[in-house]
Amino acid sequence: MVERNTGPLQLVSVGNASLDSYRKPAGGKALEEVRRLASPLEGARVLHLNSTAYGGGVAEILRSDIPLMRDIGIHADWMTIAGDDPFFRVTKAFHNALQGAEYHLTGAAKRAYLDTNSPNTAFSYDDYYYIIVHDPQPAAIRSMYGSSKAKWVWRCHIDLSDPNPQVWRFLRPYVDAYDAVIFTMAEYAMKDLPPEKVRLIPPAIDPTTPKNTSLPPKLCENILSFAGIDTRRPLVTQVSRFDPWKDPLGVVEVYRRVKRQVPEVQLAMLGHLAMDDPQGAEMYEATRKAAGSDPDVHMYTNFTAASSIEVNAFQRSSDVVIQKSIREGFGLVVAEAQWKSTAVVAGRVGGIPMQLRDGSGGYLVDSVDECADRVLHLLEDPEQAKAMGERGHRYIRSHYLTPRLVADELKLLSSL
Ligand code: UDP
Repeated sequence: MVERNTGPLQLVSVGNASLDSYRKPAGGKALEEVRRLASPLEGARVLHLNSTAYGGGVAEILRSDIPLMRDIGIHADWMTIAGDDPFFRVTKAFHNALQGAEYHLTGAAKRAYLDTNSPNTAFSYDDYYYIIVHDPQPAAIRSMYGSSKAKWVWRCHIDLSDPNPQVWRFLRPYVDAYDAVIFTMAEYAMKDLPPEKVRLIPPAIDPTTPKNTSLPPKLCENILSFAGIDTRRPLVTQVSRFDPWKDPLGVVEVYRRVKRQVPEVQLAMLGHLAMDDPQGAEMYEATRKAAGSDPDVHMYTNFTAASSIEVNAFQRSSDVVIQKSIREGFGLVVAEAQWKSTAVVAGRVGGIPMQLRDGSGGYLVDSVDECADRVLHLLEDPEQAKAMGERGHRYIRSHYLTPRLVADELKLLSSL
């Protein structure tokens, strides 16, 4: 492979994919649509730019999207920007503020943000026809780069239904510089953006990856047992970065309430510590403290056991998967668990209701009490939990698999 000078940016290497391998999980019709849409774009050069190659949903999506785009004739690359811890602290605060947290935007925070975006413009972006910039971290690069032949798209993955006005006002001029802006759903599309620039594209999960491919039950049992789970006893799991919006402390509280009725229940919490999320370690500690010395609470990180195969086995083998988010852009984990035919109990927030139909693939909840009641109900009625899991699987299959996402992206690029 020829070495490339990418300046401050890091080229992320990804694996290979073949569109044909999606035939069985996604169905032939979805693939024909992708082929049809790809044909006029053959040879187009597309760059995806974000802030981390590991941890979180964006990295998860790009790791599947890029290889598939390449397989259908698009010259797609993925690069990450350079940033340091103070920058990621500021951008995590922006992320939280955009999802509605209290925050006072200071001059120092603005400077930290712009001072890191600025050196990341030292790259020949015009080598690409299309540049898709993900989330707020690198958003200012477009306007700082100046005139460009390429078409630039800002892809916002977060819940913008009630953003902190100061932070949005600050970012808005940078977002204005883009040719198009993608949101996950209509509720997030900021009303002050020109409607003709706004596109709605929900994310998707990849049924062919180690995270989502089918695994033999015996292997799952082995993985769980090796991780310290008693596979004869009920298990409830949440897979999420340790982040206040994922409400890990609420999950511990739900578990405690369930445990009063079902003493043998166990809780697993799997949480990557992501490169661009410095808050993760603090939240992990707080959750650890809340769980105390209960031997039936199992917490895993990427230092212990939270790799794709392990996540797959836990999502597949749990009696119930919880996603107790209080804000959520989309929540890939909710789709992942349903894809594995596991019933899900999740917060009625952000992108979760669009993928988890209440009473069908699981339940939507608004509080710790409600969450505990629903989990208990499913533990006590495994037949119903199984039926819900199967309905969830069918729904995800028809709406939220990678070929649909790739088709939506191809439509967007063609329209530009
Ligand atoms: N994930 C993982 N290991 C973990 C925690 C999360 O592999 O310990 C993955 C998870 O399976 C999902 C992604 O990270 O694919 C998280 O995406 P989601 O949209 O749920 O949340 P985000 O982190 O983007 O807010």
